[in-house]
Amino acid sequence: MKLKCSFCTLWMPTLITSIITVLTFLAMYAFLHHSLTEMLEAHQHSQKLTKKIERMVSSTLNATFLGNEEGFLEAVNISNQIHDDILLIKKNNMYDTASLFDSYEQLYKKLISAVSYSTENRLEDARAALEAVKVYTDTLEGKMNELNSYFSQKEKEAEQTLFAMMLLSGSLLLFIAFFNGFYLIPRQVIHPLEEFASTLKDNEEKYRIVANWTHDWEYWVGVEKNIIFVSPSVLRVTGYTPKEFMQNPSLLADIIHPDDVSIWKQHVHEAHLPNRPEEDAQEVEFRIVRKDGDIIYIDHICRPVYNYDGTYMGVRVANRDITHKMAILAELKEKNCLLDTLATTDCLSGLYNRRYFNEAFAKEVERAKRTGNILSIVMCDIDYFKFYNDTYGHQKGDIVIRRVSDVLKSTFSRAIDIVARYGGEEFVILLPSTPPAEAKRLTEQARENVAKLWIEHSASKAAPFVTMSFGVASCSPDLSLNGDKLLKQSDDALYESKENGRNRVTLVEC
Ligand code: GH3
Ligand code: MG
Ligand code: MG
Repeated sequence: MKLKCSFCTLWMPTLITSIITVLTFLAMYAFLHHSLTEMLEAHQHSQKLTKKIERMVSSTLNATFLGNEEGFLEAVNISNQIHDDILLIKKNNMYDTASLFDSYEQLYKKLISAVSYSTENRLEDARAALEAVKVYTDTLEGKMNELNSYFSQKEKEAEQTLFAMMLLSGSLLLFIAFFNGFYLIPRQVIHPLEEFASTLKDNEEKYRIVANWTHDWEYWVGVEKNIIFVSPSVLRVTGYTPKEFMQNPSLLADIIHPDDVSIWKQHVHEAHLPNRPEEDAQEVEFRIVRKDGDIIYIDHICRPVYNYDGTYMGVRVANRDITHKMAILAELKEKNCLLDTLATTDCLSGLYNRRYFNEAFAKEVERAKRTGNILSIVMCDIDYFKFYNDTYGHQKGDIVIRRVSDVLKSTFSRAIDIVARYGGEEFVILLPSTPPAEAKRLTEQARENVAKLWIEHSASKAAPFVTMSFGVASCSPDLSLNGDKLLKQSDDALYESKENGRNRVTLVEC
């Protein structure tokens, strides 16, 4: 825009000034040429006139003294021509011809007189008239010489004017050249161009830094799937140079890990679909095989590129090496898993803890309400365990807790059964979709299995070995099924077992 403006401000004044100069020069030249031509013609006339005067005088003399009548007629004829010539000179209005006419008329009269006297044979008078003719001829010749030098002078002046005019035009053109060269062109063209070049250089440097100094491996794939740009960081990420990628566009697909090729193909298919909105960035993760053989994880984000007039220009891609991040994530996942286990597991028994049981129990109650399946719950407690600790020590007591836990786990072994340590030497077992008879049968089995451990318990009043008491509550759920109530019923059943002598199972159906 600025350059277009410079074009107008630069060329318009130059053009107009040059046209004016040339037109002025042409007008002056035409005028001078016209004047000069007329003057030259007049000059020629005056030169011819001089010769005619001479011829007229000699013809007159012949006519006067030799009686040559033709000479006389010729003299008259020439005289008429002289008259016309003087008129022509006068017409050009360049020289005062009045005195010329005057001399000519005097001369003409004297010639006529001389001829008349001669005809009348008045020789003395004719001689006197001829003397006068001579005087007038000299005068006329003198005037003619004056006229000739006048013309010569005028010609010289015209030449000088022409020279001055050319000098002026040349100077004007020289001025225009200097004005353009030292002022207009630097101001309108060179300075804006220098500014433009400097801005261009700055911008180029800016974009070079933006493009080349990205830490991530970035590239731009054109519409024809040709690679237009690859950032130098590709060497750090892949081990391949930008040149290798530019020369071989399929290198991109070649370094994708074989197990992730399908992910890559699917992504490429979607990324190059036409008319994708420019904010539609697509992100995908895959592995690549570096030039040195190492396998690294890449987070690949690409989005379509459109230029200023909305033309699709391919896709612009940023690849980030996320191998380190993936390793941390894997470690975190592992730790989270461990944390989850720790959060839901009882350390001593290896069974689920009370927290996990509460969550699972709430879910199972809701599921039982939905499905209508019977939900059974078992609460159990080691008999006279305080006495065991007192007799055999706390550490041995811990071992008993572990062994009893293993028995419970192996007895209630369905994947849907949840066996948890409820606290101290108390346990709870959740038996989804288990009718009362089945729950009771399983619980009896558990009681027997604990007893069959034959762990000595000399302080027990129920048996000489470790025993457990059980309370089973089985419920056909309805909308009023309440988890707390169910738990309480099994606890009550357990209490009943304790009251009835321990080492037994009590079933409550509701
Ligand atoms: P009952 O037959 O009526 O259940 O009698 P009990 O002695 O088992 O009942 P009580 O509640 O009086 O005693 C429970 C004992 O369990 C007290 C406590 O020392 C012991 N106990 C609770 N948790 C642990 C544990 O983690 N390890 C050991 N060794 N003992 C525990
Ligand atoms: Mg107890
Ligand atoms: Mg107990």
